[in-house]
Amino acid sequence: MKIVRYKTNENISTYGWMLDDKIGEIQGDIFGEYRRREAKIPVAEVKLDTPCVPSKILCVGRNYVEHAKELGNEIPKVPLIFLKPSSSIISNGEHILLPPQSTQVEHEAELVVVIGKRGKNLTAETAKEYIFGYTIGNDVTARDLQKSDGQWTRAKGFDTFCSFGPWIDTEFDASDAVVTCRVNGQMRQMASTRDMVFNVTTLIAYISSIMTLEPGDIIFTGTPAGVGELKNGDVVDVEIEGLGKLSNPVKV
Ligand code: ZN
Repeated sequence: MKIVRYKTNENISTYGWMLDDKIGEIQGDIFGEYRRREAKIPVAEVKLDTPCVPSKILCVGRNYVEHAKELGNEIPKVPLIFLKPSSSIISNGEHILLPPQSTQVEHEAELVVVIGKRGKNLTAETAKEYIFGYTIGNDVTARDLQKSDGQWTRAKGFDTFCSFGPWIDTEFDASDAVVTCRVNGQMRQMASTRDMVFNVTTLIAYISSIMTLEPGDIIFTGTPAGVGELKNGDVVDVEIEGLGKLSNPVKV
């Protein structure tokens, strides 16, 4: 099932499910008990919001060997994790804003896992039950500030630097999916999720040994090689085979 959040005329975001190009309202708790109404609202008539509201945005650095190498870094021995603030979130179609503090803002195409229930100290085996579904993400990064600051809060934390959506697919098989990034139609990144250093369940287990995961929390699972610069006027498309496409224009 594809889960969305959509805005009606009153500008309030409502959870829904999507069948082809129609949306039906979901009443109740998407992570618990809910009821699905008939899918009869044309997607074209609503604005899609991000498909969930995370209490935490976790990210994993250097989780693809070729990407670690392209920036001259070692492959981590344990997952390298960091957080992005919720204020950095934008949805499909919204602008990525280039901040004046950086001269090198880059795209990072990523598979994103959505957590479905509260979990702590999970194992890679039990972690599977805590996956609600998957969505598509762009972990926008000010590469120059990432290098000069040493730690990554500023470089990863600007407003509009966390795009994800347009929906959550609860049945998606993430074991071997091709992740691509195109800028103005030109291919920049392409790799399979099977090339991850730490797979999804290992990441969930590791993160849950540190912090309690909550329903709706999202984990950006790392980006493949080919990260590159975004300029004013660009359009960046992150696509995951079988899952969909996330598109954002870029402006100053
Ligand atoms: Zn990233």
